[in-house]
Amino acid sequence: MTENTADTVSEIPPTAHPAPLTLLGLGAMGTALAGAWLAEGHPLTVWNRTAARAEPLAARGAGVAATAAEAVAANRLVVVCLLDDASVEEALDGADLTGKDVVNLVTSTPGTARDRAARVTARGARYLDGGIMAVPPMIGVPQAGPYVFYSGSQELFEEHRATLAAPAGARYVGADAGFAALHDVALLSAMYGMFGGVAHAFALVSGESVDPRALAPLLSSWLTAMTGSIAATAGRLVAGDYTGGVVSTLAMQVAGVPTFLRTAEEQGVSTELLTPYFELMQRRLAADPDRNGAEDLTGVVDLLRGRG
Ligand code: NDP
Repeated sequence: MTENTADTVSEIPPTAHPAPLTLLGLGAMGTALAGAWLAEGHPLTVWNRTAARAEPLAARGAGVAATAAEAVAANRLVVVCLLDDASVEEALDGADLTGKDVVNLVTSTPGTARDRAARVTARGARYLDGGIMAVPPMIGVPQAGPYVFYSGSQELFEEHRATLAAPAGARYVGADAGFAALHDVALLSAMYGMFGGVAHAFALVSGESVDPRALAPLLSSWLTAMTGSIAATAGRLVAGDYTGGVVSTLAMQVAGVPTFLRTAEEQGVSTELLTPYFELMQRRLAADPDRNGAEDLTGVVDLLRGRG
């Protein structure tokens, strides 16, 4: 990554004059966002394909537009929280975006976000892309720690920072419009890796008289302790040396692989979640047992990138 990242999260600030905005999309997430903006006193115009979903918000003071184009016309700041990329294209299709500040919160890929930034900008608007790191009940609840990655127009971000930070913390990660999606998907991908490991652990004990509720706190505290290795991995990637300060060597960990596989076999559990990772570890060691054997697991990153 070459972009600078401003590693600060804007929490919900007091806003003396809450700014007006438009929100397209009142699904689970859009409705939560709308509620947070209304609670902070922001004049809000909403549009939703199914008009009935706007009624409770209208009762709380939101303006309801009959069409997406009408909603876009109502305010300079236009936040989009629809289902997918196709619905965003459809909703923005007939709208005049000249002079608008468009903020897309629909989860997309970095490439899609960059393409949309180019198309929206070509129509005379500024563009910011967002990746929401929260589920709807966390929105507007700062103590739950919700935040949104933003990337794209920094001017737009700075100008509307207070408004954007009302429902969830606002974290700007670069001018490249694809970076919010990149950060979002990176964090969620790591989460799925963790979910996979947890599923395997529960499967191992499930045939025994082990209460999964007793295993749960042990898993949580162990995984929390292991997150200490994340910063060390980042440091080794930057240094280009994967051997510094290594406690558990790759050679030692590969030697332990048969124990994991045999235990799964004894318990009648498939190894399909673990095997791909173990194979990468074994490949890294086999490529240069003397040198790579002294590393930790950072070399797996190189293999995933098609290097090493
Ligand atoms: P929902 O399924 O609850 O709502 C989908 C919204 O999109 C509704 O407003 C729906 O309108 C609208 N929509 C769907 N298709 C079309 C279409 N063709 N034209 C116009 N409008 C359409 O989704 P969420 O609100 O939960 O999610 C919205 C975005 O937020 C997604 O990109 C999701 O990835 C992201 N997000 C959601 C999280 C969550 O936990 N919910 C967490 C983080 C991000 P209608 O009411 O008419 O059906």
